[in-house]
Amino acid sequence: MIHASAVRVEPASWQNLLASSITDPRTLLHRLQLDPQLLEGTLAAAQDFALRVPEPYLSRIRPGDINDPLLRQVLPLGIELDEQPGYVADPLGEQHSNARPGIIHKYHGRLLLVVSAGCAVNCRYCFRRHFPYQDNSLSTAEWDAALDYIRQDDSISEVIYSGGDPLAANDRRLAWLTREIAAIPHVRRLRIHTRLPIVIPQRITPELIDALCGTRLPVTMVWHCNHAAELDELTRDAANRLRQAGVTLLNQAVLLRGVNDTLSAQIALSEALGDSGVLPYYLHLLDRVRGASHFLVPDYQAQELVGRLLTRLPGYLVPRLVRETAGEPAKVPVSVTLVHDL
Ligand SMILES: *Cc1c(COP(=O)(O)O)cnc(C)c1O
Ligand code: SF4
Repeated sequence: MIHASAVRVEPASWQNLLASSITDPRTLLHRLQLDPQLLEGTLAAAQDFALRVPEPYLSRIRPGDINDPLLRQVLPLGIELDEQPGYVADPLGEQHSNARPGIIHKYHGRLLLVVSAGCAVNCRYCFRRHFPYQDNSLSTAEWDAALDYIRQDDSISEVIYSGGDPLAANDRRLAWLTREIAAIPHVRRLRIHTRLPIVIPQRITPELIDALCGTRLPVTMVWHCNHAAELDELTRDAANRLRQAGVTLLNQAVLLRGVNDTLSAQIALSEALGDSGVLPYYLHLLDRVRGASHFLVPDYQAQELVGRLLTRLPGYLVPRLVRETAGEPAKVPVSVTLVHDL
């Protein structure tokens, strides 16, 4: 494995950026010059699921624009509190697959480890917005038990760091965990699902790259980027350094009304990811989690959108449209047919 410590970069402290995230609705509205009339609803919705936006992400939001696609993902709105039939707290039934603390084992051969309960950003559409993370912050004994679970099941060939956001954990924890996992002979691959490189690209330090890439395991990192405007010089630089260390970079997005539900937004996202050497992997239909109904894009629109994308982009820049359904043994592919009326 290549160690990236040779390519030292400016060490803006990600810990400080994480700690100084904006969590007060008043500050957010003020900083972005938004209508103070929003405050009441924003405060109420933030009671249900806290506001959290780190500065590097905030800096990419256009002030004064309530329709900014990045703002929509993080701004608590009063309408989140309207009960909508069919929108529930745990749409994927994960609390049942959560047999041991810190582990979600739903699919053959792959296992999610809840490495960190925290996130650097709180996304309003998050399907885990009501997940009982307090029960998933592991003690040392629980980490040992989670590792034993992996040791004892030789069908597990891939371990996936998840969360929360796994990169909210510190490098020492990640290095230790990765070494322990690499010592389990039947584990062949390591994967990390994270939104941190998008919201705080400074998280991708040489120390982190060493912690993740310092073992025999091939590493894939799946970024969670929903919009081209989330990518900038800093994220491109982070992607380059990860790729230089041999990390395979993929992206998954959630299809969100008012954020990325147009053909031009999806083309721009795929092109911008391509520019950074990140390949689109999945485009998820919204999970029907309580509080997120205003983000729903109906199936037929999603299918038509991807049907058009296929006529506009190289195949490898078109994500697979999927839905997560409780009880299914994999993410469920959603059928797409070509739409060639452009
Ligand atoms: C998405 C997911 C995975 C990984 O699925 P892939 O199709 O391999 O990307 C594994 N476990 C759980 C619980 C998941 O939600
Ligand atoms: S970063 Fe991921 S897990 Fe965290 S709030 Fe956003 S969507 Fe949810």
